[in-house]
Amino acid sequence: MIDQLTAIQQTSLAALQSVTGKEALEAWRVEYLGKKSPLMTILGDLGKLSKEERPAIGKRGNEVKVLLEKAYADKVEALRKAELQHSLTAGALDVTLPGRPIVRGRLHPATQTLREIYAIWAEMGFQVYRARDVETDEYNFELLNIPKHHPARDMWDTFYTTTPNVILRTHTSPGQIHAMREYCPQPIRVILPGMCYRYEQISASKEIQFNQVEGLAVGKNVRMTDLIGTLAEFVRRIFGPERTARFRASYFPFTEPSMEVDVDCIVCGGQGCAVCKYTGWLEIAGSGMVHPIVLRNGGYDPSIYSGFAFGMGPERIAMLKHGITDIRYFWQNDLRFLGQF
Ligand SMILES: [Zn+2]
Repeated sequence: MIDQLTAIQQTSLAALQSVTGKEALEAWRVEYLGKKSPLMTILGDLGKLSKEERPAIGKRGNEVKVLLEKAYADKVEALRKAELQHSLTAGALDVTLPGRPIVRGRLHPATQTLREIYAIWAEMGFQVYRARDVETDEYNFELLNIPKHHPARDMWDTFYTTTPNVILRTHTSPGQIHAMREYCPQPIRVILPGMCYRYEQISASKEIQFNQVEGLAVGKNVRMTDLIGTLAEFVRRIFGPERTARFRASYFPFTEPSMEVDVDCIVCGGQGCAVCKYTGWLEIAGSGMVHPIVLRNGGYDPSIYSGFAFGMGPERIAMLKHGITDIRYFWQNDLRFLGQF
């Protein structure tokens, strides 16, 4: 029986040598170490042997069993390593291949223009004052000297919410009242940028949402000449030192007197072209001295304080600078357009 065990040892170890896969290994384990294997049968039947035979056979049988179990464990480990090596080689990455290009975002052309505008006004001592997009009728109209049934309201048809008298602001001007009420009686130099909303027939030049940058300076002895000089300087800084500004009398309910600000056409230099409708001038802002009623609504005594205000459209300025012919491009989210800036 000792010889039989030796034979089992030899044949099983030889068989294990040729095992190359997991399934074959499992088959080997069942054949040589399973319950019905010759080795296990011998070990299981030890009780049937005589007292004299039992110790030697048992000892030898256990030796073979330990040996086979060790060989089996080694083989499991060897197969695992081979498999790992295979997956590393087969699935290897070629790190020298060029990567996929990453699509990089960039700032929206309106945002780029807004930032350019912020920087210019910051240099002139104006800080950004943020006001809300949703306003009450009182702030959007009444406190700005546009009472109910005022004909100027026709220019500002807007979106009303289901809450009575709460609307989407039609201009950034209500921010003037917020700023004045916050800072009164200190002097003010702020710009108020932000989105405005109007109920418009959308066309190449009209959108239902657009940015505005409002400006407000309030203090003692703030004069019309300060307004003209400040806006003329802004025009030169945003459109170039060779540009000149022109001021035309106009009307706004919240300023008195009021002026439109034009710049000599950046396309034709004032000669006349399709962009400037052959006038040689492009309108870029509205402005004026803050109306006494508005100053008073902001908390300032108009007999002591005065101020100027202006408002401009960053999209309009971007259109002029980049030769964009249709305002609808800005909020259509077409990457063919946005990717050009
Ligand atoms: Zn022109």
